[in-house]
Amino acid sequence: MIPDSGWFTEICEECGSAFSIKLKEKVHEEQTPYQYIEIYETETFGTLMTLDGLVMVTDKDNFIYHEMMVHPALFAHPDPKRVLIIGGGDCGSLREVLKHGTVELAEQVELDERVTRVSEKFFPELTESNNDPRARLHFTDGIKWMADAKPESYDVIIVDSTDPVGPAAGLFSEAFYRDCFKALRAHGIVVGQSESPLFHASIIKSMRGALRAAGFQDVATLNFPQCSYPSGWWTATLACKDASLSDFRQDAAAHKDFPTRYYNPAMHTAALATPEFFPEALG
Ligand code: SAM
Repeated sequence: MIPDSGWFTEICEECGSAFSIKLKEKVHEEQTPYQYIEIYETETFGTLMTLDGLVMVTDKDNFIYHEMMVHPALFAHPDPKRVLIIGGGDCGSLREVLKHGTVELAEQVELDERVTRVSEKFFPELTESNNDPRARLHFTDGIKWMADAKPESYDVIIVDSTDPVGPAAGLFSEAFYRDCFKALRAHGIVVGQSESPLFHASIIKSMRGALRAAGFQDVATLNFPQCSYPSGWWTATLACKDASLSDFRQDAAAHKDFPTRYYNPAMHTAALATPEFFPEALG
């Protein structure tokens, strides 16, 4: 059943705004031990997945989010071999990571196995690389995984999480970033989705402060459009253990041997540019 209006609407209370998508039909719903998953077919956004009523993925615009969560971090690292994704159950970030020939191991630690199983059925293109021999899927809490991680065991850690509430709240904490710092090798980079710069500047500010307090030398916030998330404008915040994030492998990015639909070196540079209000708003 879809609402009588024929529209899915996500209300963002703290933003005082809402975003709606015209629906065709609901094709799946289930309560998991962690969250309520719904899948819809829509008029113009293809398939839509929501968790607890919040938009996670649409066919139409997920490429921007997934490419910007992955490629800037991997091209900023000199030689990313071992990559960890925390969350990311729809597997779109995993697919982007596995496009990099340097990657030897891509581990994903998702709390809720059902998100991945449902994505395998309704988003086959996002999960198409799950059987790559370099991919390892684990279903457990990413906070505990990081606390137990071996020192210097990863080159890049990607935190593709839900909003900082409930089980994802700890993924934005200084204690978690300390565990990431310890688990990263030299030149290691952590990147996390960091919400809307218009409506959630305080989250980005506290995340940046926590990353610096955890020991990271450089912190940078990328901004990019994401029309199905609150305000239509989103960020990812990167932190590097011991090098500058303004340098990246521009040549490799320009001559990459895989397709992208949003990412290229110019978009990477553009996403690092700082709007005038950022320094004060983001700290
Ligand atoms: N692109 C999305 C966004 O920004 O709205 C995020 C998508 S992804 C589906 C987020 C995933 O993070 C969910 O599947 C959720 O189960 C997972 N997650 C939340 N807290 C977690 C934790 N503590 N450990 C591992 N995964 C977690």
